[in-house]
Amino acid sequence: MKAEPATLGFAAQVVAWQKTHGRSELPWQNTRDPYRVWLSEVMLQQTQVSTVLGYFARFLERFPDVAALAAGSEDEVFGLWSGLGYYSRARNMHRCAQEVVARFGGAFPRSAAELATLPGIGRSTASAIAAFCFGERVAILDGNVKRVLTRLLGFDGDLSSGAQERALWDIATQLLPPADQPADIARYTQGVMDLGATVCLPRRPSCMICPVGALCVARREGEPERYPVKTRKLRRTAQSLWMLQADDGADRVWLEKRPARGIWAGLYSLPVFESREALLAALSPAERASAIDAPAFLHVLTHKDLHLHPVRIASDGRSLGDTGAWFAAASWTALGLPAPVRKLLAQQQPALDAS
Ligand code: SF4
Repeated sequence: MKAEPATLGFAAQVVAWQKTHGRSELPWQNTRDPYRVWLSEVMLQQTQVSTVLGYFARFLERFPDVAALAAGSEDEVFGLWSGLGYYSRARNMHRCAQEVVARFGGAFPRSAAELATLPGIGRSTASAIAAFCFGERVAILDGNVKRVLTRLLGFDGDLSSGAQERALWDIATQLLPPADQPADIARYTQGVMDLGATVCLPRRPSCMICPVGALCVARREGEPERYPVKTRKLRRTAQSLWMLQADDGADRVWLEKRPARGIWAGLYSLPVFESREALLAALSPAERASAIDAPAFLHVLTHKDLHLHPVRIASDGRSLGDTGAWFAAASWTALGLPAPVRKLLAQQQPALDAS
């Protein structure tokens, strides 16, 4: 690292910049309601603001507070989440709401340390809620903020290493506004988030208009994009799956609930098989005779390439398994479905929205 965090005056500049140039119109801003802040924080992980806006509004309409969310069914939560991806976030969110009700009487705990004991709330999310809603002086360190701070300080430790990440957490804490200016913590937290989201972008950061440009080591070096340093990449894998797309002749499709663990856990899906032979073995002779291989396609997950092979069959409407049911289009559109399954079904009924 090439700059001393305590001497930078970074926090004051971020606070001043946020007042005039930061974001202030987003629906989860200007509130101290931990439910709204938490909801937005979870939704914004790996998802763009523009996408989250609609989901946030629909969620609040159906689940206006944490007790309502806790009382909702997992299927309904998945249905509202459908299209946002990374369903483990939705599952944890639902569990978290239930724990807030069961353990804390329906009121989010006020400290980052206690918030971080809840499902799906990591250290940075816990700090964001505690800083925004309860004024606690704690640092956040999400992907955007890591980028800003490593560039600012020329921090070239490898963030694949736990020790280096902990060192960056310590630095993030040293950079906070002074303890005798508690009113600044929410604005500072918003400011570093805004800097990462709107100025210090992963590629081609806008250093010319950056409020901390004069302090920034990476800018001085002329190569900001070399930060943050993270060498270990997760190894990608590939998997082929066969999906049974059964039609009962009355425009209904057979969907089954996936097990609680493994791919697409807890969602509704077309039945999935490891091989074409296994899929055919589950069919009656008449169903097998009607089988047509639809074009295979690739679905890319974060760490895995899925090669999906749909097989269409005509069925007489018999039950195809214990965990499934026949669904008309009017009902499956409201279910939590994996994105490629939703896409496939919408292709069969083009009037429906695949999003
Ligand atoms: Fe990021 Fe450039 Fe600002 Fe440095 S000067 S913090 S690299 S935008």
